[in-house]
Amino acid sequence: MGIESALPVDSILTTQLHRVINWARRSSIWPLPFATACCGIELMSTACSRFDLARFGAEAMRFSPRQSDLLIVAGRVAVKMLPVLQRVYMQMAEPRWVISMGACASTGGVFDTYAVVQGIDQFIPVDVYVPGCPPRPEMLIEGVMAIQRIIDRDNIPYDDQGKRIPLQVALAPNYEPRGQPVEVTIGAS
Ligand code: SF4
Repeated sequence: MGIESALPVDSILTTQLHRVINWARRSSIWPLPFATACCGIELMSTACSRFDLARFGAEAMRFSPRQSDLLIVAGRVAVKMLPVLQRVYMQMAEPRWVISMGACASTGGVFDTYAVVQGIDQFIPVDVYVPGCPPRPEMLIEGVMAIQRIIDRDNIPYDDQGKRIPLQVALAPNYEPRGQPVEVTIGAS
């Protein structure tokens, strides 16, 4: 990627081992997509060529928890599905991170019913909340970048019992909604 031309090939770089480890970690995130509803379509779109999650080294989706270090929960989670989500989370290797994508995963969204979990953070630790219904791919990328910043800072807090403390970073929306009704422009010259 041009680094050979920027640096003489026989030069030496010195750094700290944990910085190199964090650099490698944040540049090779393997997400596990737990997509249950419409947010999942935006998640798929994020990995496609237009938005290209590969630019952030996070496009290698894995459907096996033991190969993943970032759980992306996209969509509403039914109470019946909750044990599956918890098991998937528990089977992931440490260090692991969790993104709650969209209103439904974070709060239950419009599904204020007995059958839908009203926020996954009541049952698994969430590191980054991505707002929207659905969030645009750019917003999810913002969430992945927030995770990368956390990894860079070596910021994985544990409590006295060695249990992971969720970071609970809430992203601000990065777009202005258009005024409604939107002007019809079809066929306009
Ligand atoms: S937040 Fe909106 S888009 Fe996402 S799963 Fe819920 S209803 Fe669908």
